[in-house]
Amino acid sequence: MGIGFGKAIRGSASLLPAALLRPLGRPAAVFFHGVERRLDDSRVQSNHHDAAEFSAIARALKDNFDVLPLSELGRVLAAPERHPHALFLMADDGYANNLSEAAVILSEFNLPWTLFLSTWHIDTHAPNPVFVARLFCLFAPDAKYEIANLGVLSLGSDRRFVAEQTIARLRALDAPRADQAVAEMAAALGEARLAQLLARFRSDSFLTWNEVAALKARGVEIGAHAHKHWPMHAAQSPGYLRDQAALPRARIEAELGVPCRYFAYPFGNTADVCRAAWQAVRDAGYGHAFTTLSGSLDASANPFLMPRYGLQPRETRLASLVPALRMGNGRLRDWQADLSR
Ligand SMILES: [Zn+2]
Repeated sequence: MGIGFGKAIRGSASLLPAALLRPLGRPAAVFFHGVERRLDDSRVQSNHHDAAEFSAIARALKDNFDVLPLSELGRVLAAPERHPHALFLMADDGYANNLSEAAVILSEFNLPWTLFLSTWHIDTHAPNPVFVARLFCLFAPDAKYEIANLGVLSLGSDRRFVAEQTIARLRALDAPRADQAVAEMAAALGEARLAQLLARFRSDSFLTWNEVAALKARGVEIGAHAHKHWPMHAAQSPGYLRDQAALPRARIEAELGVPCRYFAYPFGNTADVCRAAWQAVRDAGYGHAFTTLSGSLDASANPFLMPRYGLQPRETRLASLVPALRMGNGRLRDWQADLSR
């Protein structure tokens, strides 16, 4: 539903000239994951922008919006009508190419940004479990596999479809069951083959804490993206949700010696965030938290369920698209009301 809605907004925005939409501008947030100089396989590296496309996005943001550091969010929200073109740029997960590629391009354009880290992956360098599932679905030999909590997965033709379907089912599981399923996929793929694929797709390797400190020194705001990269929905236990909110803040503050004030939910759509999740994030002491629902920031009735738009691999109409995000405000408010009851 979330992807469909974002698509509808992109479709509408592409029909309307930027000059018509610009006066309707409202403060907004957009995010990306990683940037690679060259993409080897777009089926696998779907989280990463090609560097040339990312440069074009950075230029469009610079030319059409007031891109501000997240520390300005409170000031902007106090008088949103005075900041119709305010925009906050963010990156999720914590991929190593955020330092080697994204930071270089964003510095060229002098654009401030915030990086949300899944701290367990920075601590351990364990790959994103969804990435392991994708590698299994795309590269394991043709066969039927019995995978815990998912049943029989038949790998042959139409691997992309199976990958998307399997990942959607994984996301719905609680973390212990999802971890068990991913461990069985990794075992089925074999240690050597998995290591070879992870080496081939280094795009998905995580930053070290020293590299995070280097980004912090360049002025990047560091926020939390849970500890492990799993959803924070109602199938998770209350203790798991509390840990996912509190642990990344503690790790970031211990490693960097600065306050961690912002949170972004992994996946971040309606099916990935429950009431106990935003309450755990509030109770852990953050000031604001971001979802991946479309909307403008001033429309949010809950500072722990703020809207955000995920930048597509290629964006040619950002000047129209960002003002059109307000089309999502009704749905955003309905969802926030549901999660507050
Ligand atoms: Zn993420």
